[in-house]
Amino acid sequence: MRGAGLARRRATTVTAVTAALAVGLSGTAWAAAARPGASGLGDAYYPSYGNGGYDVGHYKLDVSYDPASDLVTGKATITAKATQDLSRFDLDFGLHAQSVTVNGHAARTRTDDLELVVTPRKAIKNGASMTVVVVYAGVPSSVTADGYSPWIRTDDGAVAVGEPQISSWWFPGNDHPRDKATYDIKVTVPAGLEALSNGKLVSHGSTAGKEVWSWSESRPMATYLAYFAVGQFDITQSSTASGLPVITAVASNGGSEGTYAAADLARTGEVIDWHARHWGPYPFNITGGVAPAADFGFALENQTRPVYTRGFWRSGPNIYVVVHEQAHQWYGDSVSVDQWKDIWLNEGFASFAEWAWSEEHGDGTGAELLQAYYDGIPASDPFWQTKIGDPGKDHEFTGAVYDRGAMTLQALRQRIGDPAFWQLMRNWPRQHKYGNGSIPQFIALAERLTGEDLGGFFDAWLYSSTKPAATPENGFPAAMAGAAAARAGGSRAEVPRSKAKIDAVHRVLLAQAQGR
Ligand SMILES: [Zn+2]
Repeated sequence: MRGAGLARRRATTVTAVTAALAVGLSGTAWAAAARPGASGLGDAYYPSYGNGGYDVGHYKLDVSYDPASDLVTGKATITAKATQDLSRFDLDFGLHAQSVTVNGHAARTRTDDLELVVTPRKAIKNGASMTVVVVYAGVPSSVTADGYSPWIRTDDGAVAVGEPQISSWWFPGNDHPRDKATYDIKVTVPAGLEALSNGKLVSHGSTAGKEVWSWSESRPMATYLAYFAVGQFDITQSSTASGLPVITAVASNGGSEGTYAAADLARTGEVIDWHARHWGPYPFNITGGVAPAADFGFALENQTRPVYTRGFWRSGPNIYVVVHEQAHQWYGDSVSVDQWKDIWLNEGFASFAEWAWSEEHGDGTGAELLQAYYDGIPASDPFWQTKIGDPGKDHEFTGAVYDRGAMTLQALRQRIGDPAFWQLMRNWPRQHKYGNGSIPQFIALAERLTGEDLGGFFDAWLYSSTKPAATPENGFPAAMAGAAAARAGGSRAEVPRSKAKIDAVHRVLLAQAQGR
């Protein structure tokens, strides 16, 4: 949603934390050969995102947030392992680092846009673990990159939710889905406010006019999925039929939208159990959802506990947005993109999950939805110009990635048949659990499973800027292709009931993407 050419936020500064910084390098050969880690992970769209030279295992975040001033103060304890002999490394970060230590020793730092460049007193040997402690403060709404800040203030708090970037606005880290880690997130807020985050609620207590909320996510998580939401919430704890704990939160002053949101979030367990029957066991150990009383124009699949703008509930309940975000727990969160250009593996799959839900809840079948979308969008529509397998930087969240993305999976289902298709949809999250996956890997898996050459199919659906022809090769059986031809001649097929609901969800999502 935003580019890699980061705006110059402030002049580059050098902070000499210690006068003795240069004396620590030992004379061993490896230390002499140690090199700086790369300032990015080489993402095709966002080369500066993430950093090279180390791999984070755990983030322990201890942050305080004051809604009145929008001030974040924090201490991040990052446990990582060097993946090369490392003389220097970057953290992605936009707030002000007051002090940085590496393995207990003060480190030299400087900032360069959203990069915090850290030079430890001693080089870190390849494979060695390191503990980096950053004490920091800042006002995230004042930090922009490319003139844009993903930080969301609300009437009574804030929502640290964004994609592909948000973590740099509240904690330092290795901000790319390829470096996942576990998290302990402790959020201190003024008395009377709630602070939601990922995973399990470890403790909640109050002290000296403050409330302290401690959360823990014990499964690997991408940085953009870590979050907090601060405000006045009504929190509900329950469990699913299978015993999975559920924590949902709806803004206390949510009005009628809050009422509808609460009704849909109360079905979270039902939705999770439904997904598990289709895609395989739920990959995490708690679930839930958060609906702040704020219009930020989208929902995000935050791991274990998605966050939803209230705009989804303007005209009543709409379970499809919950189905979409919870599908991402398999497709997006447990299996994350290898690079941001693989976004179809997230959005196309979560959108197809809405179609599958529709089919099993009497709202219209996948085949009917494919026909309705295919017939409803003429070949001349710019919709078809997006190559959803590589939509381009800043175009990851355009409509075609969602709708053509879902069409692609339904067409694949019709091309390879139900048994192979559902097997494929389960194998993918099982094989890449807690890791990453790329579109070429998915195509290879589909071809291995079916023994078919699907290159022409995926070229037509993912990599062409034209409307795929309604041929058997592209997933339209002869009968369907004939029906499409007949409709092109003027007759009309019935539009499935779910289409308006799905379109309503995607309209909210896309309005936000276009607003950037
Ligand atoms: Zn999505």
